[in-house]
Order: sequence, then structure tokens, then C-alpha cells
Amino acid sequence: MTMQQLLWQGVQELNKAGVPDPQLDARYLLLEVFHLNLAAFLALKARELGKDEETEGKCREFMRLIEARAGRTPLQHLTGTQEFMGFEFLVNEHVLIPRQDTETLVELVLEEQKDREKRVLDMCTGSGCIAISLALMGGYGRVTALDVSEEALAVAGRNADRLLEPYKGEFRLVHSNMFEGLGSEDRYDIIVSNPPYIPSLVIEELEPEVRDHEPRMALDGTEDGLKFYRILAAECKDHLNPGGSVYMEIGYDQGQAVKELFADHGYGQVEVRKDMAGLDRVVRADWE
Ligand code: GLN
Repeated sequence: MTMQQLLWQGVQELNKAGVPDPQLDARYLLLEVFHLNLAAFLALKARELGKDEETEGKCREFMRLIEARAGRTPLQHLTGTQEFMGFEFLVNEHVLIPRQDTETLVELVLEEQKDREKRVLDMCTGSGCIAISLALMGGYGRVTALDVSEEALAVAGRNADRLLEPYKGEFRLVHSNMFEGLGSEDRYDIIVSNPPYIPSLVIEELEPEVRDHEPRMALDGTEDGLKFYRILAAECKDHLNPGGSVYMEIGYDQGQAVKELFADHGYGQVEVRKDMAGLDRVVRADWE
């Protein structure tokens, strides 16, 4: 059997299971198992696979991963990584898999906040993707990444260890339920957050990869999806320096509601920004 034929077996299994991108996913898994890049795969794919124990073990491992993917385990839980802002983040079942949508939030902060002295708080950091990208690309003096889940903080910590070598500022991980664990003297210039914002009932309609494999607590924004924006609107102001700003990711239909929440709490410059698909994606606000 050639590698191409092995790949084809995998593609067919994924196809049968209704996985959305069978070719792409099977190829990712094959490259992962055989430790190949795409160029090396293309050069080797028509060659007969060896009959040695190592090669046979890899073939079995590939089919094991294909089976898991056919059961709708997310690809990223099988490869263990997801790229975000050009960096490779480790992920597992305890963190939300970083989404491309969230890059809109990071890009907006980098565009508006050029002062490297600033202190940043990432509320609900998960894998740490937002906090670590802002540290690396914005070079901010101090970045605090906070989460309620110890398991998520362990992942964020491993990502920080792997990626933050070039960062010269101070990076801190904090275990806390929203603002509860912060002291009243804990103040920041920028608060960013991609909180759980999916209405509870909507979660049941999501793809099985998300519904059954990603952490419920990272998705569920309670009945109307807005629970965490209410907490952010009420409490960010107690932890922002004068002139500080807050940036939040939102669901495509939450722009107006979140904007109103922040305006009602007295924030200024409250604006909704769109993502590359033209959907409302970020709300930003200032505390004057
Ligand atoms: N901040 C992380 C992310 O954007 C986790 C967000 C969450 O768990 N809701 O991916």
C-alpha cells in the first residue's frame, strides 16, 4: 500500500461519517503521524510503504485518529494544536479552540493601543491565545491572563512557557471567577475578553465537535448569552485606570445589546466593530 492509498482510506471513513472537510482533515492527521510536511508527503506519497513494525504502527495510529475524527472529535484535539495570530497554541478539551474570528479583537487592540507601557488584563483567557498574542505583538509592559478553570490555566501556562521567550514584559496567570479574585487596587489600562456568549439553548444546535467536545463553561453565556457582558459592564470600570479601554468579542447578533449595556453603565466611545465576514464581532468602550 502507498501513503496515498492509506490517505484515501482515511478520507473515505471521514466522508462516511459526514465530517465537513474529509480530505483536509485526513491529510493533516497523516502528516502528523508520519512527521512530514506537505512537500515531503507529495514526494513520498506514491511510494510503497515499508512492512516494518514502525511503519505498520504509524498506519494503525493513523486509522485510530481517523476513527476518533469520524466520531467528531475536533481535529485540534487530535493534533493538540491550533494556530492563532501566526503562533502555534497547544489546546485540549479544557480550553476553547482559538477561532480566527477572535483575531479581529487582537488586531483592533494592536491598532488602537500603541503605548507599550500599558497594562493588559485578559478576562477568561482559556488557552491564553489573546493574552499571549498581545504580549508578543503589542509588547505591553504587563499582561495578566485570568480564568476560572485551573485546567485552562495549566494550558495557558504551557503556551506561555513555549511562546513568551521573546517577551520582555511581565506575564502573570491568575485563577479567579471573573473579577472576584482581583484586589481593588488591581488596575489595568486595557481589559480584553472573549467570554462565553452562546445562549444555552443554541449550544444544542452547534456542530458535534463544539457541542460535545469543547468546554461547556467556555461557551455558555446563560439563557440570553449576555451574563458575562453584564459582569464586565458593571465591574471593568473598577479595574480600569482613567482613560482605560475594554474590548470584547461578541456574537454576531449581540452588538446592540452589549453596546447599550456599556452605554448605560457610563462608558464612552462605545462602538461595535465588524469582522472580515462583515459581521458584528467586537464591542470596544472607554472609561473616562
Ligand atoms: N480567550 C480564549 C479564546 O478567545 C477563551 C475564550 C473562552 O473560553 N470563552 O479563545
